Amino acid sequence: MPNCQNCKQNFEITEDDKAFYQKLEVPEPTWCPECRMIRRLLFRNERTWHRRTCDATGGSMLSMFREDSPFTVYNNEYWKSDKWDPLEYGKEYDFSKSFFEQFKKLFQKTPHPNLIQKNLINSEYANYTLNTKNCYFVASTDTAEDCMYSFGAVLGARECLDVHQSHKVELCYEILDCTNSSKLRFSEACTNCTDSWLLYDCINCSDCVGCVGLRNKSHYIFNEKLSKEEYKKRLSKLRLGTFSGVQNAQQTFKKLKTKTPRKFAAILKSENVLGDDITNSRNLYWCFNARNDIENCRYGFRLHQGVKDGADAFIVWNGAELFYEAVSVTAQNVKYSAFIWGGFDVQYSYNCFDSNHIFGCVGLRSKEYCIFNKQYSKEEYEELVPKIIKQMKEKTYTDKKGRVYSYGEFFPTDLSPFAYNETLAQDYYPKTKEAAKSFGCAWQEPETKKYTITLPIDSITDDIEDAKDSITEQIIGCAHGGTCTEPCATAFKILPQELTFYRRLGVPLPRLCPQCRHMERVRLKNPINLWHRKCQCAGEKSENEVYQNTSTHSHHGVDHCPKEFETAYSPDRKEIIYCEKCYQAETS
Ligand SMILES: [Zn+2]
Ligand SMILES: [Zn+2]
Ligand SMILES: [Zn+2]
Ligand SMILES: [Zn+2]
Repeated sequence: MPNCQNCKQNFEITEDDKAFYQKLEVPEPTWCPECRMIRRLLFRNERTWHRRTCDATGGSMLSMFREDSPFTVYNNEYWKSDKWDPLEYGKEYDFSKSFFEQFKKLFQKTPHPNLIQKNLINSEYANYTLNTKNCYFVASTDTAEDCMYSFGAVLGARECLDVHQSHKVELCYEILDCTNSSKLRFSEACTNCTDSWLLYDCINCSDCVGCVGLRNKSHYIFNEKLSKEEYKKRLSKLRLGTFSGVQNAQQTFKKLKTKTPRKFAAILKSENVLGDDITNSRNLYWCFNARNDIENCRYGFRLHQGVKDGADAFIVWNGAELFYEAVSVTAQNVKYSAFIWGGFDVQYSYNCFDSNHIFGCVGLRSKEYCIFNKQYSKEEYEELVPKIIKQMKEKTYTDKKGRVYSYGEFFPTDLSPFAYNETLAQDYYPKTKEAAKSFGCAWQEPETKKYTITLPIDSITDDIEDAKDSITEQIIGCAHGGTCTEPCATAFKILPQELTFYRRLGVPLPRLCPQCRHMERVRLKNPINLWHRKCQCAGEKSENEVYQNTSTHSHHGVDHCPKEFETAYSPDRKEIIYCEKCYQAETS
């Protein structure tokens, strides 16, 4: 078994892995799957924006890059214009130096946009977004309109607030992992649901509150069937337009969530898949959040909409094929690259749109046959690339941690423009400052915020009906007050369009800043990891005796179910984890 260059643990390279590496003509990895995943996440800073100067215009702007960072940063409008040419930064490849040493220089010198955006209308505060209209403070979205405070793989959303990893949703508030749904509030992992509150793992449900694992139901409260009239009465008694009402309902809902058996993995309509949060997909290995027609992929996180034949990917979507060590890619045949939107045959490139046959390039738009941002003919390109690959294997790059980078490795961690705690690595693999440094990463001390809070959080109205228009003039203190471990903004404002939204959905005003609200959603997610466990169905009851089975299971009688599986629920979790069959027997 190979030993991971980074964590020094042994890891497995399976026969299927080997077949894949041969097919894509890539060397076998020298880092374990988890270290590889973290290394990719280090290049994505979705929400930590700094005020800084535009290096082209001298104007002030918000940017992923700090003012003191060595990167050249232009505001988006200027970056997208013809006022500068990325090929001006082109360099002849120097065979006496290592690839990464040279790439680092080009990477820092070639201008980057303050935030990465494509096809935007009236959505200035948006990062890693495509086809976005009238949105405010969103990141990682494709096709969104009138949305706010939504981060992380939101595809096809209209009039939503506080959404995470959801597809085709409308008029939703505080949801994650939901698909084809509308008017959902405070809900998780639901498909085809409408007009409901506090749902978990429900399909085809409407007019439900606080329910877990329901299928094709309406007028249920806390998994209890009610008549239409009774539902209306109980719903108004719950007073969900008040913060206290939602809190009370949430307590009952949370208890129901812990005492109802869960399926070992959220896998729906899929074949031969290993991982969690997978829908309509086939032949996946160690994949997380893979949705809508994903095929033959390995070691992936956030794979969406018709993606196939790839490995080691973080955010690959919309028809991408043949990719390896890829971050934010919607393109064909991409290796060791990040932010490649459109195009094909791309290696070791960063932030290039609609470009083909490029190697070691930064910031190109609609170019062909370029190496280190220098234009070549097709013949020259085809001759030079194999030579560089050969040289990369001979003249490797060694970082401060002694980790060796040859052809086949993703970008070294010390190339990341961001500190560990500015990136998605901190969202999904939270580390202390010391641990982040020992991973070879920088750490950013939180900036001291100096907001003058005009409305302390305990003075905010309980009932949305009592909220006055003037609330939009207040600077509200976040209930965490910067004391949490999250990147708390300490204060927040409610915008007029936001207040209209809360009134329309009848939800109470939030108590936390958008950053803290987002992190609460992320912390509800299972980790990107798998443990080998056994079904917790003990025959008539769950192993912990909390749940009484309602039917006789196929493993018969009072015997413990023998089924074992790989699950993203670690063994110390409180939830009751059942195998597919036992779960199905209890879910209707
Ligand atoms: Zn490792
Ligand atoms: Zn906060
Ligand atoms: Zn079972
Ligand atoms: Zn069972």
